Amino acid sequence: MTYQNFSLKQLQDIDAAHHLHPFTDHKDLRDAGTRIVTHAKGAFVYDTEDNEILDGMAGLWCVNIGYGRDELAEVAYEQMKELPYYNSFFRCSTPAPVLLAQKLAQLAPDNVNQVFYGSSGSESNDTALRLVRHYWALEGKPEKNVIISRKQAYHGSTVAGTSLGGMEAMHGQLGGAVPNIEHVMPPYAFELKEEGESDHDFGVRAAKAVEDAILAAGPEKVAAFIGEPVMGAGGVKIPPESYWPEIDRICKKYDVLLMLDEVITGYGRTGEWFAAQRLGLKPDTITTAKALTSGYQPLSALLVGDRIANTLVEKGGEFFHGYTYSGHPVACAVALKNIEIIEKEGLVERVREETGPYFANALSEKIAPHALVGEVRSFGLMGAIEIVKDKGTRERFAGGGAAGVAVRDAAISENLMLRAVGDTMILSPPLIWTRETIDMCCERILKALDKAQEKLS
Ligand code: PMP
Repeated sequence: MTYQNFSLKQLQDIDAAHHLHPFTDHKDLRDAGTRIVTHAKGAFVYDTEDNEILDGMAGLWCVNIGYGRDELAEVAYEQMKELPYYNSFFRCSTPAPVLLAQKLAQLAPDNVNQVFYGSSGSESNDTALRLVRHYWALEGKPEKNVIISRKQAYHGSTVAGTSLGGMEAMHGQLGGAVPNIEHVMPPYAFELKEEGESDHDFGVRAAKAVEDAILAAGPEKVAAFIGEPVMGAGGVKIPPESYWPEIDRICKKYDVLLMLDEVITGYGRTGEWFAAQRLGLKPDTITTAKALTSGYQPLSALLVGDRIANTLVEKGGEFFHGYTYSGHPVACAVALKNIEIIEKEGLVERVREETGPYFANALSEKIAPHALVGEVRSFGLMGAIEIVKDKGTRERFAGGGAAGVAVRDAAISENLMLRAVGDTMILSPPLIWTRETIDMCCERILKALDKAQEKLS
């Protein structure tokens, strides 16, 4: 590649001069300098200094089949030569999105049979919000337009995504959210469970917050509840087992649609194709992106349940919404090949039966005993490690996230990429990891924890 003629310093200087990064303090970035990743293979990424870094985040929760899959490059090349682009507006389509939609309908819960494409999770959540409100308008209930979400949820960075999400810092910079979105407590037992309260009771209480919000708004005004099965970017917050059945019951009771955001949990990460299946849910919308193409192409798919789809078809009338790249043929061709690989290699079953349980066990046995660790938890191949100052009381370090950054930086210096959300360390390994890779990851985490402990004490 031509950029190999550039030195690290040159690339960093050009980056600083011209490139504004997502979710970044640019003053801080100028001081630290950018790490330039140049290539990747399997479970590892490499930077300009040839560090071989184990990618504990699968890029950003997306590169589920690992790096360097020639089949995906080949299918993209073939599709680009044959038909690089055509739209799916004005009664047209192209073969790849058609066949992908059929495949997704086969993989999704059986009440879900239609697909609306976008290029990112944020875009698909915008679609979901508009579609749900459009549905109720078509049903003659336009006033049923309130969406209930959770604090600390992440649903994307567009205006609608930010509004649906419950990140205070993001709302602070929004200057006016999309109206009629309410946020309730997240099912985050580690911080919100009360002394003596059981996990079960905490889960019921967190679900009850949704019911209270429905009743406060008036059930005739509430269109839908949106939630990630496991809150990912908010810190891999895994609800107690009592939570989702309660949410399901409450939504049905008040005729509130269920919108699942499976941008992270979709396509095998939880040991099922969709977490909806693991949780026994039949959602009205499922937002998916990321691992749909294993990150090789930008693509998202909003999977739409029969209830909404039937109304669209029966009542008619144009849904004034869509993107130039809805159903992009190259991205869809890559997604089809990616799904074929996941199936051929049995990666979903592997997470369910082998690597998921092994990962859970490794975190509990190897990481949990460390003095800095207040809790470990995992769900399929999503994991979290809570960093605390005092293991007994679970008191946090002062500095609001500084300890998490210390552990993350130590991990990167040990050639392991993991992420800090406040003082919660996040792991989202590619589904190709084996027991050996999980062991390697744990060894590096332990070294990082030791290093960070020295710094923090
Ligand atoms: N929803 C969830 C649950 C996500 O984790 C993300 C991205 N991390 C998004 C939506 C937004 O997706 P994108 O960054 O592709 O817009």
